[in-house]
Amino acid sequence: MQLKDLKDAELKGKKVIARFDFNVPLSKTEPRTITDTSRIDMAIPTIRMILEKGASKLILISHLGRPDGEVNPKYSLEPVAEYLANKLGTDVILSASAIDNGVKNLLQLPETKVVLLENIRFIAGEEKNDQALSEKLASYGDIYVNDAFGAAHRKHASVYGINAFFKGRAYAGLLMKKEIDSLSTLLDKPAKPFVAVIGGAKVSDKIKTLEKMMVLVDTLLIGGAMAYPFLKAKGIEVGKSLCSDEDVSLAKQLLMQDKGGKIQLPKDHVASLEFGGAPLPCPGTNIPSDQMGLDIGPLTIAAYSDHIKTAKTIFWNGPMGLFENKDFSKGTMSIAHAIAETKAFSVVGGGDSVAAVQQSGEAQNFSHVSTGGGASLEYIERGELPGIQALKYGV
Ligand code: AMP
Repeated sequence: MQLKDLKDAELKGKKVIARFDFNVPLSKTEPRTITDTSRIDMAIPTIRMILEKGASKLILISHLGRPDGEVNPKYSLEPVAEYLANKLGTDVILSASAIDNGVKNLLQLPETKVVLLENIRFIAGEEKNDQALSEKLASYGDIYVNDAFGAAHRKHASVYGINAFFKGRAYAGLLMKKEIDSLSTLLDKPAKPFVAVIGGAKVSDKIKTLEKMMVLVDTLLIGGAMAYPFLKAKGIEVGKSLCSDEDVSLAKQLLMQDKGGKIQLPKDHVASLEFGGAPLPCPGTNIPSDQMGLDIGPLTIAAYSDHIKTAKTIFWNGPMGLFENKDFSKGTMSIAHAIAETKAFSVVGGGDSVAAVQQSGEAQNFSHVSTGGGASLEYIERGELPGIQALKYGV
């Protein structure tokens, strides 16, 4: 069931407990400030809708970072509470703990409207899908809303187990719905040609995504460090580039499966004598033995852009090089611009590629920028996620 279909009368005066993914990047030094607010910004329409439909209280749950079940002030949601309060123009009270006895008292006060529970991963039961924790959280609200697509691949208490206590009263938020609709379009009815661009660090990290893409797409453009095991598997020299034996054997298997010639590999590179050192053009496919590839070269950018131009559906995950360093960001930025220029249905998913799209200034020219890193890849691999299943069918 979806929040947008819930009638105002059904929500009026109700206490809503809602799970969001406010796992935003924070500055490394004090005062800790949010360096990219996208995940909170994309949750705002759901929050506003709950309040506008007349909920009496809104209790927000989120995790931040990986505190591993222990209280760690470094991962406090305080900066999130502050940002939300400014953005919503209302007080947002941060509870001392998600299971603090004071939460219930707080909710008795007429002036309390929005409460943000402190980082749910400060409590060990969250990642263990502890039933008592789910029950405690459920006791705060009459209705449950899950808008945390980025956490929907986790079988955690606030995402999964909690659904047991809201039979017929659990709803998907607006962002959750948008994520599912966009990714389902890729899986169920992609307009052809379908081109996927897959980059990043390791083949082994994304082997399931690559296998799924081999089935779905017409063309699979490989970039980033991910490309070198494929090149090596074809007998091409990759010098000192990132390239493990395990990845070479996985790449070999994928190349063997690729009867239709879907896989495209870099034709040239930008290399360096050392990681992040001075950039050196590498105009051929082979990389000299004393160099490492750190970006795709101009011939590859042109060839990949030509494939992208013909596409009606595009999925992108993983940067084309060491894009965090300006000297090796051209491949990734060029791919972002090439995708943005098309009229294709375009989806970018995965933490680093989303950061790259933001950096390119092209985010608004993509059909969908997925907030889920691991969650979007798992959804593509399996067509389902535990948190979504639980929302639909209970646990
Ligand atoms: P992933 O999380 O698998 O998408 O990997 C993203 C990371 O891979 C980014 O931090 C990139 O800087 C890094 N990366 C991409 N291409 C290369 C490369 N050619 N050499 C080293 N690191 C790379």
